[in-house]
Amino acid sequence: MTLAPPFLHLHSFRGFEPGPRLLVLGAVHGNETAGTRGIERVIAELEGGSLTLRRGSLTLVPVTNPLAYMKKQRMGDRNLNRNLYPNAAPQDYEDHIANVLCPLLAENEVLLDLHSFHTAGEPFAMIGPPNNDGVLEPFAHAEKEQALALRLGPRRIVEGWLDTYAAGVQKRLARTQPSERAQLLSTDPRYGVGTTETMRSQGGYGVTLECGQHEDPAAPPVAWRAIRNTLAHLNMVDAANPAANTGIELLRLAEVVDRLHADDHFVQPWASYDRVAAGQAIARRHDGSVLSAPRDGHIVFPNPAALAGNEWFYFAQASQRDLGT
Ligand SMILES: [Zn+2]
Repeated sequence: MTLAPPFLHLHSFRGFEPGPRLLVLGAVHGNETAGTRGIERVIAELEGGSLTLRRGSLTLVPVTNPLAYMKKQRMGDRNLNRNLYPNAAPQDYEDHIANVLCPLLAENEVLLDLHSFHTAGEPFAMIGPPNNDGVLEPFAHAEKEQALALRLGPRRIVEGWLDTYAAGVQKRLARTQPSERAQLLSTDPRYGVGTTETMRSQGGYGVTLECGQHEDPAAPPVAWRAIRNTLAHLNMVDAANPAANTGIELLRLAEVVDRLHADDHFVQPWASYDRVAAGQAIARRHDGSVLSAPRDGHIVFPNPAALAGNEWFYFAQASQRDLGT
């Protein structure tokens, strides 16, 4: 049996001229390898001389969760992209990664986190909140984050993850017996914090890019293009700033629905972004009750294989937020 390495393998490049500090992550989830392939291609270009870093600091991590990557699974011991905090007494593999990854995030200013998804669909970017001084996710770099998201390539953007997730955790807590709670990490309100949330909490900004379906051969080129566009946009390489995408479709997550039982099932195989009309049936609980769309909107991140007690799908609506296009 091969053991997962007790270290993270970083590839770092430092331009001779000052510039931003960019971190690019792949395979935060082990079976999401589009980013890994895109990063490997950029490393080969940098090492081969066809791409030259002029300004700033570029750190690339092709495999951010080596245990999950080795297992070809989303998680190793647990989901690295939740409850991401340094831990003085690490219990599992992801706790150890967090102790290396959190300082790495803090050292950088900009994060591009490359993922892929379970069911067929178009690539999309996820951004954080508008500028705000609230309690959940205060933020001051929304303009920069939006400008980057508009230039990564994909036309679809999703916002509202953390506050929707926090509301979902409240619902989860309300239906969980106190005796069960001790075992349920996912009932911790801090559970929603992953890489981009950590980045924003440390004064930086970051975009999650979902590059396509896990196995889609078109997904690695999406990851590669996003890295190259980010380097150009941040003026770290000698290339024109990519034009902002003018055909953006922006959705705001409104609700997360947990799967509660192994017999809970979707009424049809949904793809992310599928449109639903108010009242349309989405899924059926094991007791026969039907979950239907509260309003006109979209299904996002449907996961037919979700474990009971975990997020199953999100309901989203068109957002009126001005991204500065
Ligand atoms: Zn992922």
